[in-house]
Amino acid sequence: MPTEKITIKDKSFVPFIPAEAIQNRITQLAQQINEDYADKQPLVIGILNGSVLFAADLLKKLTIPCEIAFVRVSSYQQTSSTGAVKQILGLTEPVKHRDVIVVEDIVDTGLTINDIRKQLLAGEPASLAIATLLHKPDALKQPVELQYVGFEIENKFVVGYGLDYDGLGRNTAAIYVLSE
Ligand code: 5GP
Ligand code: MG
Ligand code: MG
Repeated sequence: MPTEKITIKDKSFVPFIPAEAIQNRITQLAQQINEDYADKQPLVIGILNGSVLFAADLLKKLTIPCEIAFVRVSSYQQTSSTGAVKQILGLTEPVKHRDVIVVEDIVDTGLTINDIRKQLLAGEPASLAIATLLHKPDALKQPVELQYVGFEIENKFVVGYGLDYDGLGRNTAAIYVLSE
């Protein structure tokens, strides 16, 4: 278990979720997904870059046959009517009639995951589920439907295990929180 704080650029972070706790929770999520999709072959779509470690560890624990795709989400773009919309980039696999599981690192305001959901639903999947490692319920700006949540956390900035601060800090086995 990490006991050391880490420094990234100008900020200090202290240990928040130990590597072992992350892995134990992912084992539980994978067991649930294995049961829920026992007779299915889902298309698992990881959202880059943040979900890459979570997706890899989750996928290793899935025993059902599944396909894997990774996509990016564009930065916020202004549109006249709806405000900010994020677009999915790089999805080449058709989602029509597929059982899709989106793998995300963190749901904060909920805007990103809801944009992703809307766009994927337009492709008429048979079903759509969201798996997020982290969720900050107090930060939500709109309601979200999340089927698999690793940890609900308080509204604080976290890094590690895929999550970055200014591009750095993704490559740790534990998750850290900004120290106050
Ligand atoms: P949302 O659209 O739900 O507000 O934001 C989702 C995205 O914001 C995440 O995919 C992530 O990139 C970023 N984000 C939100 N909260 C945090 C956080 O605590 N730490 C880091 N590193 N990124 C976050
Ligand atoms: Mg993300
Ligand atoms: Mg980021």
